[in-house]
Amino acid sequence: MENKEITGHTGLLGLLGSPVAHSVSPQMHNEAFRLLGLDCRYLAFDVTQETLKAAVDGLRALGALGWNLTMPCKTAMVPLCDELTLNAELCGAVNTVVNRGGKLTGTTTDGLGWVLSAKAAGHDVAGKRMVVLGAGGAGSSILVQCALDGAKRIDVFKRKNATWDKVEAFVDKVRQKTQCELALNDMADAELLKASLAEAGILLNTTSIGMSETPGCLIPDKSWLHPGLAVSDVIYEPRETELLRMAREAGLDTFNGMYMLLYQGAAAFRFWTGREMPVDAIKAKYFSAD
Ligand code: NAP
Repeated sequence: MENKEITGHTGLLGLLGSPVAHSVSPQMHNEAFRLLGLDCRYLAFDVTQETLKAAVDGLRALGALGWNLTMPCKTAMVPLCDELTLNAELCGAVNTVVNRGGKLTGTTTDGLGWVLSAKAAGHDVAGKRMVVLGAGGAGSSILVQCALDGAKRIDVFKRKNATWDKVEAFVDKVRQKTQCELALNDMADAELLKASLAEAGILLNTTSIGMSETPGCLIPDKSWLHPGLAVSDVIYEPRETELLRMAREAGLDTFNGMYMLLYQGAAAFRFWTGREMPVDAIKAKYFSAD
């Protein structure tokens, strides 16, 4: 389908953050609008925490339909919303805003992006025991979503450093608001990590260890992994981290973070338009998980 001509009716959506020029989001959303024949356009705007309020006031006044937030604007968007969904409230971060007649509702689709990518890889978190390494920005949003989506138990492992108390308070809050059993553990406790892994159905690395710039693997040996364990990494550069290679060599099912990006966009698209993004077409055109 050809792009609809831009007219006086065309709806505006966009991405706010800095830097944003490299983002695949404009291509992803504009292609989805084109494929579905929706009269909308999605642009990227370089906005900092200092300029966010002015940008949001402007978008609200102009009647923009909604927008995404990326670094460094996700937490700064929270007090600018009129209401928050429970997952955004628990994460203390907003990556998607819908503007309904001037009323701004903030949500976060980052964690949902990973949950949907796990589903697409054949792994539903409902009823599962999980081990999650790290609880930074990506990790905490995934943790919240898995807890809301029915994970039975999540054992979170992180370093006992300056952010420990903050993460402990966050984990307590999620535990109170969901049915999920949640435990925060010291990553240095190797015996506990090994024992938790033996009980888990899904292992997920949300730390930056394994990235091209910070290579490595927080699981020392493939004997720590057992048959039937699914292993995921939020990292997608490289496509196969040391953790995923070790798991693949142990014969386990693995998936990386590539489609997390796609599905967080698909969830935002549904939030704004009520329509399903044609993910297979978008995947084929812009995403390669291999
Ligand atoms: P972040 O908020 O800075 O969190 C970094 C995490 O890595 C923290 O949990 C930190 O633990 C942990 N970490 C760093 N060095 C470590 C070490 N030496 N040992 C153990 N843990 C260590 O960053 P983020 O935004 O969550 O990003 C984390 C990763 O997710 C990055 O690789 C990023 O590329 C990826 N990501 C992927 C997607 C996607 O769409 N696939 C989206 C967002 C992020 P402490 O709390 O103990 O410091």
